[in-house]
Amino acid sequence: MDADHQLRVAILAGDGIGPEVMGPCLEVLDAALGGGADGLALTSHEAGAGCYRRHGDALPAATLEAARVADAILLGAMGDPRVRYPDGTEIAPQLDLRVELGLYAGVRPVRVIPGLPPVLAATAARALDFVVIRESTEGLFTSRGRGTVTTDEAREQLVITRPTSERLFDFALRLGEQRRAQGFQGRVTCVDKANVFRAFAFFRQIFDERAAAYPQLNADHAYVDAVALDMVRRPWRFDVLVTENMFGDILSDLGAGLMGGMGMAPSADIGDDHAVFQPCHGSAPDIAGSGRANPTAMFLSAAMMLEWLAERHGRPPLATAAGRIRAAVDRTFAEAKLLPVELGGDAGTAAISTVVLHFIATDGVAPC
Ligand code: ATP
Repeated sequence: MDADHQLRVAILAGDGIGPEVMGPCLEVLDAALGGGADGLALTSHEAGAGCYRRHGDALPAATLEAARVADAILLGAMGDPRVRYPDGTEIAPQLDLRVELGLYAGVRPVRVIPGLPPVLAATAARALDFVVIRESTEGLFTSRGRGTVTTDEAREQLVITRPTSERLFDFALRLGEQRRAQGFQGRVTCVDKANVFRAFAFFRQIFDERAAAYPQLNADHAYVDAVALDMVRRPWRFDVLVTENMFGDILSDLGAGLMGGMGMAPSADIGDDHAVFQPCHGSAPDIAGSGRANPTAMFLSAAMMLEWLAERHGRPPLATAAGRIRAAVDRTFAEAKLLPVELGGDAGTAAISTVVLHFIATDGVAPC
């Protein structure tokens, strides 16, 4: 345990609604930590499409170095469809960070906050609480920037490696075990397309090898198309889903949809030595500057960061602060009955942030 040193958090607000949700998130963090007296040293750094436009570099060396030495990275959102590399692809330094820092486990919790209207009538009486683990450094995304296009043909390549898959499955199985201890099903499902592609048969085989060490868990498999169907039809059956990068990209947005929208869905990209915490959403240029962005996913991502830091560095007060954020978010929707714009209501960034801050200030839990 390293209870003495101040933990460093690199803040990368990014583009579009990124800075709009990061601003209130820093206030929420400060309030939950009790004025920031203890614990975290926050520093802000430039990256993203605006940074590329200004400096010709989307992820400057100084920002990458700050991310490398930080204990955690908190990211808003990056990218702007109007700013592109010469080959036409979008600026996405958040994807570069995953590869640079070896963040193989993309953790996307799907939990419907009580009090919010269910997106699907079938889930109205059910508690939805499952986690999608998206492999975040290889799979089809290995091909990013390397695909070939001729007049008649385009090719991309999907790569599955044993070392990354083993670490990914160990991570997912450990999470399944932790959740089982908390009363969840203890079910970990490998999501693939092993009936069609050899790469996915290989992926599934490695899953089975690693799962053999967890006989107390129900480790099973499902094809990605069937999982998409069941995420709409009976999502309460899932506990932990673990899958390839592209499949996880798609399924986690489907999960965000179940929660009510992109602004509700937090995420973490975790490796052995580093972790980035950011909302599932992108920079949402269609609503940037309008005050309509839902900051909830950003707040919940910050709570995930505090929990991760608390466990990794033996700092229980950070877990307490995370609990304060989660409780305040829940009360904002269950008690104050705010309805975010993306769910058809009129609560935008400022209204949601104000109420979350109010509940943190009045929750009766002693700040850290
Ligand atoms: P990326 O590819 O960079 O992840 P994306 O294509 O998934 O981005 P988003 O930027 O996430 O796109 O936006 C998808 C839709 O969700 C848009 O209509 C956007 O306005 C909406 N959206 C995203 N984030 C939020 C938010 N925090 N609050 C409200 N609406 C949001």
